Amino acid sequence: MAALPETSTFWQQILDHGIRPMVKNLSDNEVIAMTEKYGTHNYKPLLLNVVQGDGAEVWDGSGTRYLDCIGAYSALAHGHSSKLLAEVIVEQLDHLSVASRAVYTSEVALFMKGLAEYCDLDMVCPMNTGAEAIETCIKLARKWAYTVKGIPDNQAEIIVCEDNFHGRTTTIVGFSSEPGYKEHFGPFTPGFKIIPFGDASALEAAITSNTAALLIEPIQAEGGIIIPPDGYLAKARELCDKHNVLLIWDEVQTGFCRTGKRFAWQHENAKPDLVAVGKPLGGGILPVSAAVGTKAVMEVFSPGDHGSTFGGNPLGAVVALTALAQMEVEDFAGRSRDLGERLMKDLLGLNLSQVKEIRGRGLLIGIEVNEDVDSVKLGKLFLKNGLITKETRHKTFRLTPPIVISESQLDEVVSKIKMSFDQL
Ligand code: PLP
Repeated sequence: MAALPETSTFWQQILDHGIRPMVKNLSDNEVIAMTEKYGTHNYKPLLLNVVQGDGAEVWDGSGTRYLDCIGAYSALAHGHSSKLLAEVIVEQLDHLSVASRAVYTSEVALFMKGLAEYCDLDMVCPMNTGAEAIETCIKLARKWAYTVKGIPDNQAEIIVCEDNFHGRTTTIVGFSSEPGYKEHFGPFTPGFKIIPFGDASALEAAITSNTAALLIEPIQAEGGIIIPPDGYLAKARELCDKHNVLLIWDEVQTGFCRTGKRFAWQHENAKPDLVAVGKPLGGGILPVSAAVGTKAVMEVFSPGDHGSTFGGNPLGAVVALTALAQMEVEDFAGRSRDLGERLMKDLLGLNLSQVKEIRGRGLLIGIEVNEDVDSVKLGKLFLKNGLITKETRHKTFRLTPPIVISESQLDEVVSKIKMSFDQL
């Protein structure tokens, strides 16, 4: 690494030369060492320093190319370094980036109209991360329960599922069934009831007069790409209607075309009262999320009930609007459906003896390997062969590439997978 000029401090260097020269000067090993020294160890990254991305491809410091099948945990639908989104950002920076919700802005107004219409719902509460969108849904459901449904104060219950993943706040991990997510982080927020995923009878049995809402992922992505039995989503809608319970879909990962439709609830026409969205809404560039819902629910919020300094900012709003426009005009839903079917067919055609099951919908696919497979070794082989993927829970490797991935890149993904299993 080139030494910093003696007279120059770290900060002066940044102001005088910009950050690019410093970024370029760091070797892969220096980046890893610096990250581990100064960052908390709450992730266990692949041993890969990504320096450049384009669409579904990324490169490390030595110029080795990889196909990105994590896609920032489904956030990168539009791919790395989208030129369209970059142009929109540069143009918007000349006008306004963050104004806060203390004032009105046309960008945020247009964003809320566009997103509500895209979701076929009425109103939007903008946030930044998926976890914040979920927290927002929880607050909306509870206030609706007390002020509209008439549940006695502090008695509202929300039904959630085993193996859920809704984010990492203390309230959210409190109703996780994964010990590793919650150990040493209690005490937790009460008011959640955990039932098995995909079991409609358990759902009906869990509903009481104090049930405010049902909060579920239509497909459990982080839980191992678990798809519920046919009819479960529609049944959930029916039971919520029957018992005056709000249906909240967590579409943070499944939403925005990932499963071959705009939203996964559309596979069974199970329209929610509230939906949490995020990830690709920010075009894979900025954190933009929201709770979106019917007027009857969203109207329970009054000034001061909820907020976020950056939630609903003009820069994020124009990025999100452009991201939505690209999804629509370039038919991301059809693309994800067709490419997903092709990938699934090709993977099944490999007849891999080490694989227990391959499951998914659209470009949300999981490869579950047999219990006796050394998945750590397999993960290393994938990386060595130029494929970026990681295990979700239950020995399942995720394939969630950018939706802009090309057919020939998908063919390459399949051959890299075959090569890795052959070498195992
Ligand atoms: N909900 C689901 C279904 C998710 O998959 C995730 C993240 O993976 C979240 C919520 C949390 O989103 P974020 O990491 O943006 O807080």
